[in-house]
Amino acid sequence: QQREKVAIIGGGSFGTAVAKIIGQNVLLHDDIFEPEVLLRMTDSTYNGEKLIEIFNRTHENPKYQPGITLPSNIIATSDLEETVKDATILVFVLPHQFLEDTCYKMKQFLKEGTKAISLVKGVNLNQEGPVLLSTTIVDILGIDVSVLMGANIASEIAKDQFSEATIGYTNEDNANLFVTLFHTPKFMCTPINDVPGVELCGALKNVIAIAAGFSDGLGLPGNSKAAILRIGLLEMKKFAQHFFPEVKTDTFFESCGIADLYVTCTEGRNRKCAEAFAKTGKSFKELEAEMLNGQLLQGTGTTEEVYKVLDNMNMTKEFPLMSAVHDIAFEGKPVTELVSSLEVN
Ligand code: 13P
Repeated sequence: QQREKVAIIGGGSFGTAVAKIIGQNVLLHDDIFEPEVLLRMTDSTYNGEKLIEIFNRTHENPKYQPGITLPSNIIATSDLEETVKDATILVFVLPHQFLEDTCYKMKQFLKEGTKAISLVKGVNLNQEGPVLLSTTIVDILGIDVSVLMGANIASEIAKDQFSEATIGYTNEDNANLFVTLFHTPKFMCTPINDVPGVELCGALKNVIAIAAGFSDGLGLPGNSKAAILRIGLLEMKKFAQHFFPEVKTDTFFESCGIADLYVTCTEGRNRKCAEAFAKTGKSFKELEAEMLNGQLLQGTGTTEEVYKVLDNMNMTKEFPLMSAVHDIAFEGKPVTELVSSLEVN
């Protein structure tokens, strides 16, 4: 039987962290997977040298995961055709901002029967409401797409710190394959048959993380931040189940739900930039450029998309927290009004 050939699209901090796991697992399961895995990175330089060349020489990505050595069967390239032409499994782990364009560019090179798993956090929208990014991939490439989301701070995964993740699937055979590709005792993967639930958890918690950052920037006490997390989780569930009624309530208790919400609201970049926003009054664009070393925030775009959906449907009042995050981040509403927008007489 033909072995699966894996390609990873995206060599940022999360892409590099999961490439380490994938590189180890394809060797461990060499009856299922081909050993060589191509990692598609965009061309950039580090200390005057091409990052791809540094990576292929040292097996490290000093720009996004300094000090972490990857298995030598992970080969970096910027060539999209080379990356995807022989692949039977595509792992999408690039910023939402580049997803659609990359899919259109790779479409002509795709092999028959290829399947994908998306680790990308965000939502699109059309006239009727939100569109899952996995649906965007399906619509462009016409392949089966699972998703992997969870409490996954990339640098901790790269250091083999115990973590969990949730794999949302529609095709069970593919889900089993993805569990084999990603699961380790230090990265425990649970498959569940709920793509929209898993994916929306991953996207929407970034909006709540911005609220958590505002709360930290204002110096609000623990009770208030805990209330923000609880109200946020309920708004995530309400939004997900309103637009995708098939979303299961149990999904919110998986790693992609409460656990990812917690870690993103305590350790994530969205939280960090939102705290700085509250303290400095600088825009998110400025803070992203100043604080994230070339990485891109996923929560601000999601906040705007979610708000557009709610506004179009006259539903902003039913989602006071997500609406307040939007108005503070983009409409000049004072950060101090975060909590008052949640108070009920
Ligand atoms: P940030 O993008 O806010 O760093 O979130 C981290 C994360 O998604 C952890 O799962």
